[in-house]
Amino acid sequence: MDLKRIDRAIQAYLKDAEPSDAARLEFFRGLFALQQERCDELEGAAGAVLVESEGFDEAYLSGRPLLQLYPATIEAPAFAETCRRISTHLIGRAGLSDEVSGALGGIDWDGFSRAADLALAGVDPCGFVEAVRCDGAARESFGRALDVAVLVLAFAVRTHVQNTAERLMDAVSTDAKEGNHARPLRCPVCGGAASLSHVGAPEALQGAGRLQFCSACGTAWHFERIRCGSCGSQDQGDLHYHHLDGDAAHRLQTCDACGSYQRVAFQDDLQVAMCLDVEDVVMAKLDRVALDPRFHRD
Ligand SMILES: [Zn+2]
Ligand SMILES: [Zn+2]
Repeated sequence: MDLKRIDRAIQAYLKDAEPSDAARLEFFRGLFALQQERCDELEGAAGAVLVESEGFDEAYLSGRPLLQLYPATIEAPAFAETCRRISTHLIGRAGLSDEVSGALGGIDWDGFSRAADLALAGVDPCGFVEAVRCDGAARESFGRALDVAVLVLAFAVRTHVQNTAERLMDAVSTDAKEGNHARPLRCPVCGGAASLSHVGAPEALQGAGRLQFCSACGTAWHFERIRCGSCGSQDQGDLHYHHLDGDAAHRLQTCDACGSYQRVAFQDDLQVAMCLDVEDVVMAKLDRVALDPRFHRD
């Protein structure tokens, strides 16, 4: 994470933010700083490991998540420490009720991490988080804090996977990532669905480019300009953009073929320096209006 870029983007959004949005932006600014500090500590403890690039291009082009070839190593005591720090940040800054804060503060992260399938977390971050959410024992021990505890886990896994994810993307050739091949539909590192799309990145494909962003592991990858991020349809007739009045920078791309939608940030309409992590936070509110029929069709 580039904290300077995050700060610039958050400062710009804070200028016209309503109080509840401002609190949310401040919460995430603190969270991103904490995650990056922890990433740096973990990197320092493990030392930079060079990744062999054997087989990575084939995996990338065939849609096989790179973490399956080269899993991130997650140690239980270190993971528990990350969960504790993130959970303290949530308790202090997320505006939780006393009941939920109390339940979250009472979680034994050491005990949880010793029993957890951290090998799965290192290969499939989203799969790990979903498995915990559905696990009877975890549900019982998290109690009223289940939803926020699951968030803590998602933020913690990202922190432990991000350094490996960056290295794996570096190990894939530029030709595989940017050449004339079909792009991976899901995150090439962890296999998660893209949480955000960015159109018009100057570094991508002669200005007509598009990047997909995976918030589970922090990976951004090149993507076709006209394509559904869920089912991969490239039929222009199926794809529509919608946005709220006065905000053409943040749009929803809907797909008639699969009925899903994706959040897309348009660089050219954006008044703020593009930062994918911050856009992911800002655009979360579009999820609440995604089903609202009052959208404007372009
Ligand atoms: Zn990912
Ligand atoms: Zn689709």
